[in-house]
Amino acid sequence: MTVSQPIFRFAPSPNGYLHLGHAYSALFTDHWARAMGGVALLRIEDIDTVRCRPEFVTAAIEDLAWLGLSYPQPVRRQSRHFADYAAAADILRTKGLLYPCFCSRSDIRTASDGRTDPDGAPIYPGTCKGLTGAERSARLAARAPAQWRLDMAAAIEAAGGLGIAHAEPSPADPVRMREADPGRWGDVVVVRKDTPTSYHLAVTVDDAVQGVTHVTRGMDLYWSTDIHVLLQALLGLTSPVYCHHTLVRDPHDEKLAKSRGSQSLRDLRALGWQPEDMRERLGF
Ligand code: GLU
Repeated sequence: MTVSQPIFRFAPSPNGYLHLGHAYSALFTDHWARAMGGVALLRIEDIDTVRCRPEFVTAAIEDLAWLGLSYPQPVRRQSRHFADYAAAADILRTKGLLYPCFCSRSDIRTASDGRTDPDGAPIYPGTCKGLTGAERSARLAARAPAQWRLDMAAAIEAAGGLGIAHAEPSPADPVRMREADPGRWGDVVVVRKDTPTSYHLAVTVDDAVQGVTHVTRGMDLYWSTDIHVLLQALLGLTSPVYCHHTLVRDPHDEKLAKSRGSQSLRDLRALGWQPEDMRERLGF
């Protein structure tokens, strides 16, 4: 019997400089990869080609190296693998689980019945699900901008029903299993209008392509796991073990974000912080 090596990943989106929250996640991932005799990969999640910039990729790699973290090469960059995501979307389309949606954000807000998903966005009211095949074809032929949504009810049925179990250990319960309930997300977007994938599809495909066995990431993505394990079931992929860590908070108890003025690792470096200071502050 061969025992395969655990594979972890740290997967930042280069739409700004890394901050303490990223450093915590990278160090947490590195810690557990080492503790389990595994390896931690770096993945650059740059599907948003407008907000993600090459200088942020270079800066992230430099900041991580400063922290003492290096990764096997080559590093996977999502923007170079759009064909992989398009192929996965085609599998779902062939199964009849995707439909084109021509709604704008304001169309959705107007038609919303007030229900929201775990991220607080309106649940898609299903407007375009009711279009006839002829209407869909006509709009697609006229090149109306379309996003492709997962028909959640059909997808859950195709995956064998609700409650897809996956491992989500915690320090108190290392063998804990959790059941996904993707229905709470409604008909999520799988292929965006501006890019041939979505975060959910790209992350699911990449974790499988890279053989990731352990996903360690922040609690802000806890509920997204419901969608990821559903997509894994539909695409015939193995679900990794998931472990969501607590988020580093600012002094106002808010999640750190560049948009809220959180200091980047480079700002802290400029203030004289050393890698050891940062590791100590974050508990590694
Ligand atoms: N790219 C995502 C972020 O920076 C993380 C994705 C993941 O770990 O699944 O928030």
